[in-house]
This record gives sequence, structure tokens and C-alpha cells, in this order.
Amino acid sequence: MNTQADDLAQDAEVYRTLLESTKAIPWKIDWKTLTFSYIGPQIETLLGWKRDSWQSIHDWSERMHPDDRERVVNFCVSQSQAGSDHEADYRALTATGEYVWIRDVVHIMRNETGEVDALIGFMFDITERKETEEQLLRLQQELQELSFKDALTGIANRRMFDERLEAEWCHAQHQKQPLSLIMVDVDLFKQYNDLYGHIQGDSCLKQVAEILSQCAARSRDFIARFGGEEFVLVLPDADANAALKVAERCRNQIFKAQIPHAASTISPVLTISMGVATQVPTRQDSLQDFVERVDRLLYQSKQQGRNRIAS
Ligand code: GH3
Ligand code: MG
Ligand code: MG
Repeated sequence: MNTQADDLAQDAEVYRTLLESTKAIPWKIDWKTLTFSYIGPQIETLLGWKRDSWQSIHDWSERMHPDDRERVVNFCVSQSQAGSDHEADYRALTATGEYVWIRDVVHIMRNETGEVDALIGFMFDITERKETEEQLLRLQQELQELSFKDALTGIANRRMFDERLEAEWCHAQHQKQPLSLIMVDVDLFKQYNDLYGHIQGDSCLKQVAEILSQCAARSRDFIARFGGEEFVLVLPDADANAALKVAERCRNQIFKAQIPHAASTISPVLTISMGVATQVPTRQDSLQDFVERVDRLLYQSKQQGRNRIAS
């Protein structure tokens, strides 16, 4: 017949075997001395550090990624002091110098008088989960970037233009600085497509985008594809004179590229027309009016014969 003590010893043996055969790593910390009174042997498989090298909580905090340490240690200490169960994610250093993402789930144990006596918990290896999370985050960022990018030319799209222009308009209002806008439209592009085909038309638009991108060089200058064969340049802090210079540079550089356009009635090579305007916006001014004004100027340059700038 088994005695009660035998049963207990047997139970303890069962529990220990269970604990030490799970993937989660069990541990116990004595709260008064802040030392480990137990840590599962699996820790050595996961992190490589010998089981008996886990003595005090310093061994724990020292083997934490420096970027996680302060946040996690402060959080765990304050939660433990407050007597709250908690969990924390952090990167733990392995004996070979790599990092493993750990989720530590902590339970507070109290003595008969209700004081915190010990912390017990499980460490879970969540590296795979974190990697998936990070990958998702990267994809999300990529998606966001793509949603602001024109797929054909790789420059900013209309949506990005709207956002940036709005921001620069507000900035110019506050700073009482000029804001210039250039609208560019490829001349007789329908004929270009009709003669050379859409595929060639596409690569022509790519080339135009590339050339225009190099015509405005200040750090906040900004180019976008407005739609179809139309492009816009936003030139913050540029007065009318500076804007006109950029527009002239655009026209010259497109001309220099000598892109054949045999169907054009105005030139043997591809040309562009532009509308340019500058404004120091006040509170009363509307951005939409400003954009419409530039659009009308572009229309004017078409009316006056194309391959020119109206300002
Ligand atoms: P204008 O000088 O008056 O601007 O004449 P246009 O022929 O350039 O103007 P219109 O607006 O009549 O035609 C624009 C052409 O641009 C028609 C359209 O097929 C072409 N286009 C717009 N987007 C794209 C594109 O992404 N790829 C190609 N290949 N062509 C495009
Ligand atoms: Mg057009
Ligand atoms: Mg056109």
C-alpha cells in the first residue's frame, strides 16, 4: 500500500516530468532575494546558457536585447510590486549571440498573509510568430508605399500629390512663403500612341517622368503623375522666377532627349506644354482655385500652339 507521502512524491514527479517536457519553459523566482529557485532544463536547448547560470534576475535582464531591457524590466518589476499577473515580449540573447523572441507569462504567488512571495511563469518561444508579424508589417508598409506610387512610372501618384500639395499649401500659408506649381502635358500624345502603339507610349511616359524628375532639385520639390500624360511639379518656397526656370529646364531636357514623334504636327520630336503659377497663399485663398488657375494656364499654352510655357 502506498502512503500519502509516497503519493505526493509520485505526483510531484509527474508534475515535474510534465513541466519539463513541454515547449514552454517554467521558472520560479523568489521575490525577496530576486533569485531563481527553479528554471526548466529546456532553457538550455532554447538559449544555450547552462541551467545553473540562471541565478538572479540580473542573469535574466542582462540576457535581454538592450532595446527591450529598460521597458521590460520596469514593466515586470512594477507589475510584480503591484501584485498583478502580467506578460511581456522581449528578445533574449542566446549563448551564440543571436536573439530569440520570448513571451514571458508571469503569475504572482502570495504567502498566507497575502504578501508577494514568489513569481512563477512560463517562457514561450514566439520567434516564428514575431517573424510573421514583422513580415506582415513589412508587407503593409510596402502596400502603403505602392498605394502612393504610380505603377507605370514609379513616381508619386495623384493621391500622393493631393496630400503633399495640401501640406505644402498649409506650410506656405503659415510661413507666408510662395508656393509654385507646374502642370505638364505631353503634346499630341494621342497621335504618338496611334503611330507607335500603346506599349511604346508607356515607355515614352516612363522616360518623360524620369526626365522631369531630374529638373527640380530642391529637397522638398516634388513630382507626381497627375493622370494620363500629365505631370505636376510642386515647388515649395519657389517664387515665380524660380518656377519659370524649372519649367524652362523641363522643356529643354525633354527637347534634348530627342524622342521621335513623327506624327506630331508641331515638331519632329516629342514636346510638352506647361502652365506655371506661384502664390503666397493667405487664409482666404483656396487651393482648388490655385490648381484650376494652373490648369487654365496649361490650356492656354495648348491654345497658343503647344511646346510652350504659360505663366
Ligand atoms: P494635347 O496636345 O492637346 O495634349 O493632345 P493629346 O493627344 O496629348 O491629348 P489627349 O488628351 O487628346 O490625349 C491624351 C492621350 O494620352 C490619350 C491617351 O491614350 C494617352 N494616354 C493616357 N494615359 C496613357 C498611358 O498610361 N499610356 C499610354 N500609352 N497612353 C496614355
Ligand atoms: Mg492631357
Ligand atoms: Mg496631351
